[in-house]
Amino acid sequence: MTKEEKFPVVDRTKAKVIAYIVVAAFMAIMIVFGLRSAGQTPLHEGDQRRSITCKWCEGSGKLEGERCPYCLGAKKLKAVIPGPNHPVRVRGTVWDLSRFSSREEAEEKAAAEDYEQVYLKARDQTVSRAKVRFKNDSEEFLLEGKVSGRFWGFVKPGEYTLTVEHPEFQTYETEFTVPVREHPVWPEIPGVEIEDEDQLELELFLKK
Ligand SMILES: [Zn+2]
Repeated sequence: MTKEEKFPVVDRTKAKVIAYIVVAAFMAIMIVFGLRSAGQTPLHEGDQRRSITCKWCEGSGKLEGERCPYCLGAKKLKAVIPGPNHPVRVRGTVWDLSRFSSREEAEEKAAAEDYEQVYLKARDQTVSRAKVRFKNDSEEFLLEGKVSGRFWGFVKPGEYTLTVEHPEFQTYETEFTVPVREHPVWPEIPGVEIEDEDQLELELFLKK
């Protein structure tokens, strides 16, 4: 009698099913815990995590008669009260001044920039892949511009020298203060877009 005959096909199928169930259960646990920890904003020095009244339903648990999609009816949410080191989200666009008849025209165009609109390709009046750098004696944050001229990233509050560099343009330099965040940092909720009230938008202009 060979080993093969001692284990009928039926039993092996059962064993396989059990193995699949074990793997599926393990994956489910990993996904649930993974999502939960991904939804938690990391703490920085001076931050505090606190359960506070939900901003959207103002603690009623309801929005327009339905269960509040932010706190899921719990009325409170675990948010981070940001300290002076909590990074600030910065986004913006680098514009090519040579593509405008005047600086005013460029500023007008920049002021109307709609960040809901997504651009994946190079655009007519923007500078592709510029380097936006925030630097002081102790810190340096480099935000790499995209091909569309947009850039985004996080910068710690503080006073910086801001430079915008691109090999085909004159380097732009200015003093720039990133203010400390004023609003709570709400947890990430899958499928729900939360506006970052402390986000900075920077429209930058380069000369040839
Ligand atoms: Zn709510």
